Amino acid sequence: MLLITGHTEKVDCWLSTKSEGVKKVSCWDWFDFKQIKENVSLKDIYLSAKKTLSRNKDNASLEQYTPTIKETLTILDKQYDSSAQKYAKIDINSFNGIINKPVLTSSLGRLLIHYESEWYGKVDSEGKLLKWEALNSEMTENVSNVLDYLTEGDEAKLDAYINTLETSKQQSEKKGFEELKRKIDRFPKDYKSNPKQKLNAEQIEIYKKVQKLEDKVMAWDKTKEKIKKMLWWDDVAKGLAKLNQPKNTPPATLSDNGKAWFIHPVAMKMFALKNSELTIVIDPGHGYEKGSSGATAKIYTYKISKNKTATANIETLPQEVIDDTTLIISDTEDPEKNERGLVFDVSIKLKKLLELKGYKVILTRTERRIKGIDGPETRQARIDLANKNNADYFISIHADGALNYSASGSHVIYPNISDSEIVALSKELAVDIFSYYNVVPVESSSPKKDVRNLQVLRTSNKTKRKVLVELGFITSPKDAKALFSNIDLIAQQLYEGLLKNIKKFY
Ligand SMILES: [Zn+2]
Repeated sequence: MLLITGHTEKVDCWLSTKSEGVKKVSCWDWFDFKQIKENVSLKDIYLSAKKTLSRNKDNASLEQYTPTIKETLTILDKQYDSSAQKYAKIDINSFNGIINKPVLTSSLGRLLIHYESEWYGKVDSEGKLLKWEALNSEMTENVSNVLDYLTEGDEAKLDAYINTLETSKQQSEKKGFEELKRKIDRFPKDYKSNPKQKLNAEQIEIYKKVQKLEDKVMAWDKTKEKIKKMLWWDDVAKGLAKLNQPKNTPPATLSDNGKAWFIHPVAMKMFALKNSELTIVIDPGHGYEKGSSGATAKIYTYKISKNKTATANIETLPQEVIDDTTLIISDTEDPEKNERGLVFDVSIKLKKLLELKGYKVILTRTERRIKGIDGPETRQARIDLANKNNADYFISIHADGALNYSASGSHVIYPNISDSEIVALSKELAVDIFSYYNVVPVESSSPKKDVRNLQVLRTSNKTKRKVLVELGFITSPKDAKALFSNIDLIAQQLYEGLLKNIKKFY
Protein backbone atom coordinates (compact mmCIF):
# COMPACT_ATOMS: atom_id res chain seq x y z
CA MET A 1 0.00 0.00 0.00
CA LEU A 2 1.12 3.53 -0.70
CA LEU A 3 0.53 6.28 1.81
CA ILE A 4 1.12 9.91 1.08
CA THR A 5 2.19 11.95 4.09
CA GLY A 6 2.13 15.70 3.85
CA HIS A 7 2.34 16.87 0.27
CA THR A 8 5.27 15.15 -1.33
CA GLU A 9 6.56 12.22 0.68
CA LYS A 10 5.58 8.76 -0.46
CA VAL A 11 5.85 5.89 2.03
CA ASP A 12 5.50 2.20 1.29
CA CYS A 13 3.86 0.51 4.25
CA TRP A 14 1.04 -1.69 5.44
CA LEU A 15 -2.07 -0.04 6.68
CA SER A 16 -3.70 -1.51 9.78
CA THR A 17 -7.16 -2.75 8.90
CA LYS A 18 -8.15 -2.30 12.52
CA SER A 19 -8.31 1.43 12.05
CA GLU A 20 -11.72 2.90 11.67
CA GLY A 21 -13.10 3.75 8.24
CA VAL A 22 -11.13 1.13 6.38
CA LYS A 23 -13.20 -1.32 4.45
CA LYS A 24 -11.91 -4.85 4.06
CA VAL A 25 -12.03 -6.02 0.48
CA SER A 26 -11.52 -9.54 -0.78
CA CYS A 27 -8.87 -9.90 -3.45
CA TRP A 28 -11.51 -11.71 -5.50
CA ASP A 29 -13.85 -8.78 -5.39
CA TRP A 30 -13.17 -7.05 -8.74
CA PHE A 31 -15.20 -4.01 -7.82
CA ASP A 32 -13.43 -1.60 -10.13
CA PHE A 33 -13.54 -3.75 -13.23
CA LYS A 34 -16.09 -3.64 -16.00
CA GLN A 35 -17.44 -7.10 -16.60
CA ILE A 36 -18.66 -8.10 -20.03
CA LYS A 37 -20.21 -11.37 -21.07
CA GLU A 38 -19.55 -12.05 -24.72
CA ASN A 39 -21.61 -14.81 -26.29
CA VAL A 40 -21.27 -14.28 -30.03
CA SER A 41 -19.07 -16.40 -32.28
CA LEU A 42 -15.43 -15.72 -33.04
CA LYS A 43 -16.39 -14.76 -36.57
CA ASP A 44 -18.95 -12.25 -35.34
CA ILE A 45 -16.35 -10.59 -33.14
CA TYR A 46 -13.96 -10.47 -36.07
CA LEU A 47 -16.62 -8.93 -38.32
CA SER A 48 -17.63 -6.50 -35.63
CA ALA A 49 -14.02 -5.34 -35.27
CA LYS A 50 -13.71 -5.09 -39.05
CA LYS A 51 -16.88 -3.00 -39.26
CA THR A 52 -15.28 -0.39 -37.00
CA LEU A 53 -12.85 0.44 -39.78
CA SER A 54 -15.56 2.33 -41.64
CA ARG A 55 -16.65 4.30 -38.59
CA ASN A 56 -17.17 8.03 -39.16
CA LYS A 57 -19.44 10.85 -38.04
CA ASP A 58 -22.39 9.47 -39.98
CA ASN A 59 -21.81 5.94 -38.74
CA ALA A 60 -20.57 6.38 -35.21
CA SER A 61 -23.22 4.54 -33.19
CA LEU A 62 -21.79 2.00 -30.77
CA GLU A 63 -24.97 -0.06 -30.73
CA GLN A 64 -24.03 -1.94 -33.89
CA TYR A 65 -21.09 -3.71 -32.24
CA THR A 66 -20.72 -6.78 -30.04
CA PRO A 67 -20.34 -6.01 -26.30
CA THR A 68 -16.53 -6.29 -26.15
CA ILE A 69 -16.00 -4.12 -29.21
CA LYS A 70 -18.56 -1.63 -27.97
CA GLU A 71 -16.88 -1.20 -24.57
CA THR A 72 -13.45 -1.00 -26.16
CA LEU A 73 -14.59 1.75 -28.55
CA THR A 74 -16.25 3.63 -25.69
CA ILE A 75 -12.85 3.90 -24.04
CA LEU A 76 -10.89 4.57 -27.23
CA ASP A 77 -13.31 7.33 -28.30
CA LYS A 78 -12.39 9.33 -25.18
CA GLN A 79 -8.99 10.20 -26.66
CA TYR A 80 -10.69 12.61 -29.06
CA ASP A 81 -12.17 15.94 -28.26
CA SER A 82 -15.93 15.57 -28.55
CA SER A 83 -16.14 18.44 -31.04
CA ALA A 84 -13.55 16.85 -33.32
CA GLN A 85 -16.03 14.31 -34.70
CA LYS A 86 -13.33 11.67 -34.69
CA TYR A 87 -14.22 8.11 -33.80
CA ALA A 88 -12.04 5.21 -32.77
CA LYS A 89 -11.65 2.02 -34.73
CA ILE A 90 -10.23 -1.34 -33.79
CA ASP A 91 -6.94 -0.50 -35.44
CA ILE A 92 -3.43 0.17 -34.28
CA ASN A 93 -3.70 3.94 -34.54
CA SER A 94 -6.66 4.11 -32.17
CA PHE A 95 -4.83 1.98 -29.60
CA ASN A 96 -1.62 3.94 -30.02
CA GLY A 97 -3.61 7.11 -29.41
CA ILE A 98 -4.21 6.20 -25.76
CA ILE A 99 -0.67 5.08 -24.91
CA ASN A 100 0.10 8.40 -23.26
CA LYS A 101 -3.27 8.62 -21.54
CA PRO A 102 -3.01 6.42 -18.41
CA VAL A 103 -6.65 6.92 -17.46
CA LEU A 104 -7.73 5.35 -20.73
CA THR A 105 -5.11 2.59 -20.85
CA SER A 106 -5.98 1.50 -17.33
CA SER A 107 -9.71 1.53 -18.19
CA LEU A 108 -8.93 -0.73 -21.11
CA GLY A 109 -6.92 -3.00 -18.82
CA ARG A 110 -9.90 -3.21 -16.47
CA LEU A 111 -12.24 -4.78 -18.95
CA LEU A 112 -12.98 -8.31 -17.80
CA ILE A 113 -14.39 -10.38 -20.60
CA HIS A 114 -16.14 -13.66 -20.18
CA TYR A 115 -15.55 -15.61 -23.33
CA GLU A 116 -14.56 -18.95 -24.74
CA SER A 117 -10.79 -19.43 -24.56
CA GLU A 118 -8.83 -19.50 -27.79
CA TRP A 119 -7.19 -22.62 -26.35
CA TYR A 120 -10.49 -24.39 -26.31
CA GLY A 121 -12.10 -25.85 -29.40
CA LYS A 122 -14.19 -28.73 -30.60
CA VAL A 123 -12.76 -30.74 -33.48
CA ASP A 124 -15.33 -32.25 -35.86
CA SER A 125 -15.28 -35.73 -37.40
CA GLU A 126 -13.09 -34.47 -40.27
CA GLY A 127 -10.59 -33.08 -37.80
CA LYS A 128 -11.63 -29.47 -38.42
CA LEU A 129 -11.97 -26.72 -35.85
CA LEU A 130 -15.34 -25.24 -36.58
CA LYS A 131 -14.92 -21.83 -35.03
CA TRP A 132 -11.72 -21.16 -36.97
CA GLU A 133 -13.05 -22.68 -40.19
CA ALA A 134 -15.79 -20.08 -40.00
CA LEU A 135 -13.13 -17.44 -40.61
CA ASN A 136 -12.00 -18.95 -43.93
CA SER A 137 -14.09 -16.54 -45.93
CA GLU A 138 -12.47 -13.58 -44.19
CA MET A 139 -8.90 -14.84 -44.31
CA THR A 140 -8.50 -16.32 -47.74
CA GLU A 141 -11.62 -15.79 -49.82
CA ASN A 142 -10.21 -12.78 -51.67
CA VAL A 143 -6.93 -14.48 -52.39
CA SER A 144 -8.67 -17.70 -53.48
CA ASN A 145 -10.92 -15.74 -55.81
CA VAL A 146 -7.99 -13.99 -57.43
CA LEU A 147 -6.14 -17.28 -57.76
CA ASP A 148 -9.12 -19.01 -59.38
CA TYR A 149 -9.34 -16.21 -61.89
CA LEU A 150 -5.65 -16.24 -62.72
CA THR A 151 -5.32 -20.00 -62.99
CA GLU A 152 -8.74 -21.01 -64.32
CA GLY A 153 -10.10 -17.80 -65.80
CA ASP A 154 -13.16 -17.72 -63.55
CA GLU A 155 -14.31 -14.13 -64.19
CA ALA A 156 -17.15 -14.23 -61.68
CA LYS A 157 -14.56 -14.76 -58.97
CA LEU A 158 -12.50 -11.80 -60.14
CA ASP A 159 -15.65 -9.67 -60.00
CA ALA A 160 -16.42 -10.96 -56.52
CA TYR A 161 -13.00 -9.77 -55.40
CA ILE A 162 -13.17 -6.45 -57.26
CA ASN A 163 -16.50 -5.71 -55.59
CA THR A 164 -14.83 -5.79 -52.19
CA LEU A 165 -12.64 -2.83 -53.17
CA GLU A 166 -13.34 0.87 -52.99
CA THR A 167 -15.07 2.07 -56.15
CA SER A 168 -12.21 4.39 -57.06
CA LYS A 169 -9.78 1.48 -57.19
CA GLN A 170 -11.96 -1.08 -58.92
CA GLN A 171 -11.25 -0.26 -62.54
CA SER A 172 -7.50 -0.04 -62.32
CA GLU A 173 -7.26 -3.21 -60.20
CA LYS A 174 -9.43 -5.10 -62.65
CA LYS A 175 -7.38 -3.95 -65.60
CA GLY A 176 -4.22 -4.98 -63.79
CA PHE A 177 -5.47 -8.50 -63.16
CA GLU A 178 -6.77 -8.89 -66.70
CA GLU A 179 -3.37 -7.89 -68.04
CA LEU A 180 -1.73 -10.37 -65.71
CA LYS A 181 -4.08 -13.11 -66.84
CA ARG A 182 -3.28 -12.42 -70.51
CA LYS A 183 0.39 -12.80 -69.71
CA ILE A 184 -0.18 -16.05 -67.83
CA ASP A 185 -2.15 -17.37 -70.79
CA ARG A 186 0.91 -16.86 -72.93
CA PHE A 187 3.04 -19.13 -70.70
CA PRO A 188 4.19 -22.27 -72.56
CA LYS A 189 1.80 -25.16 -71.84
CA ASP A 190 4.35 -27.35 -70.09
CA TYR A 191 5.97 -24.57 -68.01
CA LYS A 192 5.19 -26.30 -64.72
CA SER A 193 7.65 -29.09 -65.45
CA ASN A 194 10.54 -26.64 -65.28
CA PRO A 195 9.47 -23.01 -64.79
CA LYS A 196 13.02 -21.67 -64.53
CA GLN A 197 13.92 -22.93 -68.00
CA LYS A 198 10.64 -22.49 -69.78
CA LEU A 199 9.66 -19.01 -68.65
CA ASN A 200 11.37 -15.75 -69.51
CA ALA A 201 12.39 -13.26 -66.82
CA GLU A 202 9.09 -11.37 -66.80
CA GLN A 203 7.10 -14.59 -66.73
CA ILE A 204 9.13 -15.88 -63.81
CA GLU A 205 8.22 -12.76 -61.85
CA ILE A 206 4.53 -13.39 -62.58
CA TYR A 207 4.91 -17.04 -61.69
CA LYS A 208 6.42 -16.02 -58.34
CA LYS A 209 3.47 -13.70 -57.70
CA VAL A 210 0.99 -16.52 -58.28
CA GLN A 211 3.01 -18.76 -56.00
CA LYS A 212 2.84 -16.11 -53.30
CA LEU A 213 -0.95 -16.14 -53.51
CA GLU A 214 -0.94 -19.91 -53.22
CA ASP A 215 1.33 -19.59 -50.19
CA LYS A 216 -1.13 -17.22 -48.56
CA VAL A 217 -3.94 -19.72 -48.85
CA MET A 218 -1.65 -22.43 -47.49
CA ALA A 219 -0.48 -20.21 -44.63
CA TRP A 220 -4.01 -19.92 -43.25
CA ASP A 221 -4.40 -23.70 -43.44
CA LYS A 222 -1.14 -24.08 -41.57
CA THR A 223 -2.22 -21.57 -38.93
CA LYS A 224 -5.34 -23.61 -38.29
CA GLU A 225 -3.26 -26.78 -37.99
CA LYS A 226 -1.03 -25.03 -35.47
CA ILE A 227 -4.00 -23.85 -33.43
CA LYS A 228 -5.31 -27.39 -33.36
CA LYS A 229 -2.05 -28.69 -31.94
CA MET A 230 -1.94 -26.02 -29.27
CA LEU A 231 -5.38 -26.53 -27.76
CA TRP A 232 -4.75 -27.40 -24.13
CA TRP A 233 -7.95 -26.47 -22.37
CA ASP A 234 -9.59 -29.90 -22.31
CA ASP A 235 -6.44 -31.67 -21.13
CA VAL A 236 -5.86 -29.23 -18.29
CA ALA A 237 -9.53 -29.27 -17.26
CA LYS A 238 -9.49 -33.06 -17.05
CA GLY A 239 -6.13 -33.10 -15.25
CA LEU A 240 -7.35 -30.64 -12.62
CA ALA A 241 -10.52 -32.63 -12.06
CA LYS A 242 -8.41 -35.67 -11.18
CA LEU A 243 -6.11 -33.88 -8.75
CA ASN A 244 -6.51 -34.65 -5.08
CA GLN A 245 -7.16 -31.41 -3.29
CA PRO A 246 -5.61 -30.79 0.14
CA LYS A 247 -8.21 -30.49 2.87
CA ASN A 248 -9.98 -27.17 3.40
CA THR A 249 -8.94 -25.61 0.10
CA PRO A 250 -11.32 -25.17 -2.78
CA PRO A 251 -10.46 -27.38 -5.77
CA ALA A 252 -8.76 -25.76 -8.75
CA THR A 253 -10.98 -26.13 -11.78
CA LEU A 254 -11.41 -25.05 -15.36
CA SER A 255 -14.86 -24.97 -16.88
CA ASP A 256 -15.51 -27.74 -19.35
CA ASN A 257 -17.07 -25.42 -21.91
CA GLY A 258 -13.88 -23.41 -22.38
CA LYS A 259 -15.32 -20.24 -20.88
CA ALA A 260 -13.42 -18.05 -18.47
CA TRP A 261 -12.92 -14.43 -17.50
CA PHE A 262 -10.16 -12.76 -19.49
CA ILE A 263 -8.39 -9.65 -18.41
CA HIS A 264 -6.98 -8.73 -21.79
CA PRO A 265 -9.02 -6.72 -24.23
CA VAL A 266 -9.65 -8.22 -27.61
CA ALA A 267 -6.39 -9.46 -29.06
CA MET A 268 -6.76 -7.86 -32.42
CA LYS A 269 -3.17 -6.79 -32.87
CA MET A 270 -2.46 -8.75 -36.01
CA PHE A 271 -5.77 -7.80 -37.45
CA ALA A 272 -5.07 -4.18 -36.77
CA LEU A 273 -1.62 -4.40 -38.28
CA LYS A 274 -3.05 -5.37 -41.60
CA ASN A 275 -5.58 -2.61 -41.62
CA SER A 276 -3.65 0.53 -41.02
CA GLU A 277 -4.84 3.33 -43.26
CA LEU A 278 -1.48 4.72 -44.24
CA THR A 279 0.60 3.79 -47.24
CA ILE A 280 4.22 4.89 -47.19
CA VAL A 281 6.41 4.54 -50.24
CA ILE A 282 10.14 4.44 -49.55
CA ASP A 283 12.28 5.05 -52.59
CA PRO A 284 15.89 3.94 -52.19
CA GLY A 285 17.65 5.85 -54.98
CA HIS A 286 19.41 4.21 -57.92
CA GLY A 287 20.16 0.45 -57.81
CA TYR A 288 19.90 -0.37 -61.50
CA GLU A 289 22.41 -2.45 -63.40
CA LYS A 290 22.97 0.39 -65.83
CA GLY A 291 23.10 4.13 -65.55
CA SER A 292 24.06 6.04 -62.44
CA SER A 293 24.92 3.99 -59.40
CA GLY A 294 24.93 7.16 -57.33
CA ALA A 295 27.80 8.40 -55.24
CA THR A 296 30.60 6.03 -54.26
CA ALA A 297 32.82 5.92 -51.20
CA LYS A 298 36.58 5.83 -51.73
CA ILE A 299 39.70 3.91 -50.95
CA TYR A 300 42.22 6.59 -50.07
CA THR A 301 45.97 6.81 -50.44
CA TYR A 302 47.30 9.27 -47.88
CA LYS A 303 50.56 10.67 -46.55
CA ILE A 304 51.97 9.23 -43.32
CA SER A 305 55.34 10.96 -43.35
CA LYS A 306 57.47 12.74 -45.88
CA ASN A 307 58.17 9.72 -48.06
CA LYS A 308 55.65 7.22 -46.82
CA THR A 309 52.05 6.63 -47.89
CA ALA A 310 49.32 4.21 -46.87
CA THR A 311 45.98 3.10 -48.30
CA ALA A 312 42.74 2.61 -46.41
CA ASN A 313 39.01 2.49 -46.92
CA ILE A 314 36.43 4.41 -44.94
CA GLU A 315 36.46 1.87 -42.10
CA THR A 316 40.20 1.79 -41.61
CA LEU A 317 41.09 5.38 -42.42
CA PRO A 318 42.83 6.96 -39.38
CA GLN A 319 41.02 9.76 -37.60
CA GLU A 320 43.76 12.27 -38.38
CA VAL A 321 43.15 11.83 -42.11
CA ILE A 322 39.39 12.10 -41.60
CA ASP A 323 40.02 15.36 -39.76
CA ASP A 324 42.57 16.67 -42.22
CA THR A 325 41.73 15.62 -45.76
CA THR A 326 44.70 17.55 -47.17
CA LEU A 327 46.75 14.45 -46.22
CA ILE A 328 44.94 12.51 -48.97
CA ILE A 329 46.98 12.11 -52.15
CA SER A 330 44.61 10.14 -54.36
CA ASP A 331 41.56 7.89 -54.27
CA THR A 332 39.85 5.08 -56.11
CA GLU A 333 36.24 3.97 -55.88
CA ASP A 334 35.39 1.47 -53.16
CA PRO A 335 33.23 -1.16 -54.88
CA GLU A 336 31.83 -2.30 -51.52
CA LYS A 337 30.45 1.01 -50.41
CA ASN A 338 28.18 3.05 -52.57
CA GLU A 339 25.05 5.13 -52.36
CA ARG A 340 22.73 2.54 -53.86
CA GLY A 341 23.73 -0.06 -51.24
CA LEU A 342 23.62 2.35 -48.33
CA VAL A 343 20.21 3.78 -49.13
CA PHE A 344 18.84 0.31 -49.76
CA ASP A 345 20.03 -0.95 -46.36
CA VAL A 346 18.55 2.10 -44.62
CA SER A 347 15.27 1.70 -46.51
CA ILE A 348 14.87 -1.96 -45.56
CA LYS A 349 15.34 -1.12 -41.88
CA LEU A 350 13.02 1.86 -42.06
CA LYS A 351 10.40 -0.33 -43.72
CA LYS A 352 10.61 -2.87 -40.88
CA LEU A 353 10.19 -0.21 -38.20
CA LEU A 354 7.17 1.28 -39.94
CA GLU A 355 5.60 -2.12 -40.51
CA LEU A 356 5.92 -2.94 -36.83
CA LYS A 357 3.86 0.16 -36.26
CA GLY A 358 1.22 -1.18 -38.61
CA TYR A 359 1.74 0.93 -41.70
CA LYS A 360 1.69 -0.41 -45.22
CA VAL A 361 5.13 0.18 -46.67
CA ILE A 362 6.14 -0.21 -50.30
CA LEU A 363 9.73 -0.12 -51.49
CA THR A 364 10.33 1.09 -55.02
CA ARG A 365 13.03 -1.52 -55.32
CA THR A 366 13.16 -4.67 -53.26
CA GLU A 367 16.62 -5.83 -54.21
CA ARG A 368 20.06 -4.29 -53.92
CA ARG A 369 20.54 -4.49 -57.64
CA ILE A 370 17.73 -4.56 -60.15
CA LYS A 371 17.45 -4.83 -63.90
CA GLY A 372 17.10 -1.69 -65.94
CA ILE A 373 18.73 1.65 -66.52
CA ASP A 374 18.72 4.48 -64.02
CA GLY A 375 16.92 7.19 -65.92
CA PRO A 376 13.65 9.04 -66.57
CA GLU A 377 11.69 5.87 -67.40
CA THR A 378 12.65 3.91 -64.32
CA ARG A 379 12.10 6.96 -62.15
CA GLN A 380 8.64 7.35 -63.67
CA ALA A 381 7.94 3.68 -62.84
CA ARG A 382 8.65 4.49 -59.18
CA ILE A 383 6.25 7.42 -59.31
CA ASP A 384 3.62 5.24 -60.98
CA LEU A 385 3.98 2.69 -58.19
CA ALA A 386 3.30 5.37 -55.58
CA ASN A 387 0.34 6.76 -57.54
CA LYS A 388 -1.15 3.33 -58.09
CA ASN A 389 -1.06 2.65 -54.38
CA ASN A 390 -2.42 6.08 -53.43
CA ALA A 391 0.64 6.69 -51.31
CA ASP A 392 0.24 9.04 -48.36
CA TYR A 393 3.98 9.52 -48.03
CA PHE A 394 6.82 9.31 -50.54
CA ILE A 395 10.30 9.33 -49.04
CA SER A 396 13.15 9.15 -51.54
CA ILE A 397 16.45 8.31 -49.88
CA HIS A 398 19.79 9.35 -51.37
CA ALA A 399 23.29 10.33 -50.37
CA ASP A 400 25.37 13.07 -51.97
CA GLY A 401 28.67 13.02 -53.78
CA ALA A 402 31.17 15.72 -54.69
CA LEU A 403 34.70 15.97 -56.06
CA ASN A 404 35.72 17.94 -53.03
CA TYR A 405 36.37 15.78 -49.89
CA SER A 406 35.30 18.58 -47.64
CA ALA A 407 31.77 18.91 -49.08
CA SER A 408 29.74 17.58 -46.16
CA GLY A 409 26.35 17.70 -44.42
CA SER A 410 22.84 16.35 -44.86
CA HIS A 411 19.72 18.01 -46.17
CA VAL A 412 16.17 17.30 -47.19
CA ILE A 413 14.43 18.59 -50.29
CA TYR A 414 10.74 19.37 -50.76
CA PRO A 415 8.97 20.01 -54.07
CA ASN A 416 9.00 23.23 -56.03
CA ILE A 417 5.69 22.97 -57.87
CA SER A 418 2.60 25.11 -58.32
CA ASP A 419 0.39 23.15 -55.91
CA SER A 420 0.87 25.22 -52.75
CA GLU A 421 -0.87 22.65 -50.52
CA ILE A 422 1.56 19.90 -51.49
CA VAL A 423 4.51 22.26 -51.11
CA ALA A 424 3.40 23.26 -47.59
CA LEU A 425 2.66 19.68 -46.47
CA SER A 426 5.92 18.39 -47.88
CA LYS A 427 7.92 21.19 -46.32
CA GLU A 428 6.43 20.38 -42.95
CA LEU A 429 7.30 16.72 -43.50
CA ALA A 430 10.83 17.72 -44.46
CA VAL A 431 11.23 19.67 -41.21
CA ASP A 432 9.78 16.83 -39.13
CA ILE A 433 11.71 14.06 -40.80
CA PHE A 434 14.98 15.81 -40.13
CA SER A 435 14.11 16.93 -36.62
CA TYR A 436 15.67 13.73 -35.25
CA TYR A 437 18.41 13.22 -37.82
CA ASN A 438 21.92 13.91 -36.59
CA VAL A 439 24.06 11.03 -37.89
CA VAL A 440 25.47 13.58 -40.31
CA PRO A 441 25.00 17.22 -39.22
CA VAL A 442 22.13 18.87 -41.03
CA GLU A 443 23.13 21.72 -43.38
CA SER A 444 22.03 25.06 -42.03
CA SER A 445 19.99 25.75 -45.14
CA SER A 446 17.99 22.50 -44.97
CA PRO A 447 15.15 21.91 -45.82
CA LYS A 448 15.61 23.12 -49.36
CA LYS A 449 13.06 23.86 -52.01
CA ASP A 450 13.78 21.69 -55.04
CA VAL A 451 15.74 23.99 -57.33
CA ARG A 452 17.06 21.04 -59.36
CA ASN A 453 13.53 20.06 -60.44
CA LEU A 454 14.05 16.44 -59.37
CA GLN A 455 11.80 14.07 -61.25
CA VAL A 456 10.45 12.13 -58.26
CA LEU A 457 9.17 15.34 -56.64
CA ARG A 458 7.45 16.71 -59.72
CA THR A 459 3.69 17.10 -60.23
CA SER A 460 3.29 13.67 -61.84
CA ASN A 461 3.95 12.19 -58.39
CA LYS A 462 0.50 12.65 -56.84
CA THR A 463 1.62 11.92 -53.28
CA LYS A 464 0.76 14.84 -51.02
CA ARG A 465 3.73 14.49 -48.72
CA LYS A 466 6.89 13.82 -50.67
CA VAL A 467 10.51 14.58 -49.91
CA LEU A 468 13.97 13.53 -50.99
CA VAL A 469 16.56 13.17 -48.27
CA GLU A 470 20.28 13.42 -48.82
CA LEU A 471 21.78 11.59 -45.85
CA GLY A 472 25.24 13.13 -46.20
CA PHE A 473 28.20 13.14 -48.57
CA ILE A 474 29.53 9.69 -49.31
CA THR A 475 32.61 11.32 -50.81
CA SER A 476 33.49 13.06 -47.54
CA PRO A 477 35.51 10.71 -45.32
CA LYS A 478 33.84 12.15 -42.23
CA ASP A 479 30.27 11.75 -43.51
CA ALA A 480 30.92 8.37 -45.14
CA LYS A 481 32.33 6.93 -41.92
CA ALA A 482 29.29 8.14 -39.97
CA LEU A 483 26.88 6.86 -42.61
CA PHE A 484 28.23 3.36 -43.14
CA SER A 485 28.67 2.66 -39.44
CA ASN A 486 25.21 3.88 -38.35
CA ILE A 487 22.68 2.31 -40.67
CA ASP A 488 20.35 1.23 -37.84
CA LEU A 489 20.49 4.65 -36.24
CA ILE A 490 19.78 6.44 -39.52
CA ALA A 491 16.69 4.29 -40.04
CA GLN A 492 15.60 4.88 -36.45
CA GLN A 493 15.98 8.66 -36.71
CA LEU A 494 14.16 8.90 -40.03
CA TYR A 495 11.44 6.75 -38.49
CA GLU A 496 11.05 9.02 -35.44
CA GLY A 497 10.83 12.08 -37.65
CA LEU A 498 8.30 10.54 -39.99
CA LEU A 499 6.24 9.34 -37.02
CA LYS A 500 6.18 12.87 -35.64
CA ASN A 501 4.57 14.01 -38.88
CA ILE A 502 2.16 11.06 -39.08
CA LYS A 503 0.94 11.71 -35.54
CA LYS A 504 0.01 15.27 -36.44
CA PHE A 505 -2.23 14.26 -39.30
CA TYR A 506 -3.49 10.73 -38.66
ZN1 LIG B 1 21.32 9.83 -55.47
